[in-house]
Amino acid sequence: MGFLIPTKKKPHAVCIPYPAQGHVTPMLKLAKLLHSNGFHITFVNTHFNHKRLLKSRGVSSLSGVPGFDFKSIPDGLPPSNEDATQDIPALCESVTNNFLAPFLDLLRNLNHDPPVSCIVSDGVMSFTLDAAKQLGVPEVLFWTTSACGFMGYLHYQHLIDQGLVPLKSEEDLTNGYLDMHITTVPGMDNMRLKDFPSFVRTTNPKEILLNFLNRESKRASMGSAIILNTFEELEGPVLDAMRSILKLPPIFTIGPLSLLNNNMIKDAELYSSLGSNLWKEEFGCFEWLKGRKEASVVYVNFGSITVMSNEHLVEFAWGLANSKQDFLWVIRGDLVKGDSAVLPQEFLEEINGRGMLATWCPQEEVLNNPAIGGFLTHSGWNSTIESIVAGVPMISWPFFAEQQTNCRYVCMEWGLGMEIDNDVKRDEVEKQVRELMEGEKGEEMRKKAMELKKKAFRAAEPNGTSTVNFEKLVHEVLLLSS
Ligand code: UDP
Repeated sequence: MGFLIPTKKKPHAVCIPYPAQGHVTPMLKLAKLLHSNGFHITFVNTHFNHKRLLKSRGVSSLSGVPGFDFKSIPDGLPPSNEDATQDIPALCESVTNNFLAPFLDLLRNLNHDPPVSCIVSDGVMSFTLDAAKQLGVPEVLFWTTSACGFMGYLHYQHLIDQGLVPLKSEEDLTNGYLDMHITTVPGMDNMRLKDFPSFVRTTNPKEILLNFLNRESKRASMGSAIILNTFEELEGPVLDAMRSILKLPPIFTIGPLSLLNNNMIKDAELYSSLGSNLWKEEFGCFEWLKGRKEASVVYVNFGSITVMSNEHLVEFAWGLANSKQDFLWVIRGDLVKGDSAVLPQEFLEEINGRGMLATWCPQEEVLNNPAIGGFLTHSGWNSTIESIVAGVPMISWPFFAEQQTNCRYVCMEWGLGMEIDNDVKRDEVEKQVRELMEGEKGEEMRKKAMELKKKAFRAAEPNGTSTVNFEKLVHEVLLLSS
């Protein structure tokens, strides 16, 4: 299903994601959806990511789809390893200070046939609001977080005003202070301070990411609409509270975007040349998964930004080996802090045949492989919603940002996950992995995951909430200037 736009002029959306994997991927999905519904698209990456996308796909150009153009702007950062995630605080500062001028230049130099009619910007790239204002076009802010994570950011100022954040001393990180219940956030009844996006864990009032997210979330009210890659049936109470309490523009939930893509894009083949992976995907895992028993393999992946010590890596390794479960473990080249990952030889011998290691994989396809029975994840929002779509229960080891909030919701509100301690130990990994794959709790979580999967599919059906919201977004906001 889909709807083509009945306007005289073709609408032209400029889509600009924050330059990191977990933002580029959902923005590209949204851009494809808009394009397939009649929009001309200009998709704006940084030069750095543009190069990485070319490299990971082994191509010399990203275009190939008529009416879907890729452009790039500089990121203002010094050169860095092209196979690794950039320094996130430095990138955030650069977004605020250095991106507006090249973005305006780019807009001026676009081929204005058709003229730009709207901007779809990442929520944390709110400098683009100034550009939209200059052009006189509507701008939609796409927060690629969960609603609960976004609500956490929206309450940063509230926590600061109450004197709870920044922390008074380093000891507050470990003395139980973070366990304090916060009862003042509407729609979120079971929050502790430590369940808020992780940048509250600082004693420094000038902490870059605390201030960046606080500022960006305040500016969310300045756009024409906010969109979230979630669905009403999953995060209803938080969304209701967000809509009734905060003075925000309309909020449209249009997730899971992957399902909207499946249902609304008629000519999927047309977009097969457009990919968003910054690392080269390894497909060997599918051969390895072939013929394995249904729901018998643990999939382990901590996303694109998480880093850990080699000690923690080794704890995970032995926990997985000792669980005696089969596993597919993706270890990014830059996963281990400051060094490359070193796994003990005995571990590699022990897991022979039972474990497969890779450096990057097509995650959504992997999660939907019938052999996958559980996901050991960092609880990034994309990974979480992809796991829900696949009906796969999780073990959560949150790293940073709103992953802590996602973890809380996955484990306590939605009942399809278990949290593993931050200072991870092999015995706990072994125990939790066994429980996930063979235990009663694992079975219950699998049932919950399947229930949520059904709800996700319903939201993306022709009359489902997310489909209806997407249509409203287009007609009530994005087409306003066409
Ligand atoms: N991803 C992937 N292959 C991998 C690891 C990650 O395709 O080996 C994708 C994953 O499907 C998700 C994104 O990268 O869409 C990671 O986003 P998420 O929000 O989960 O975490 P982040 O990387 O932002 O921490």
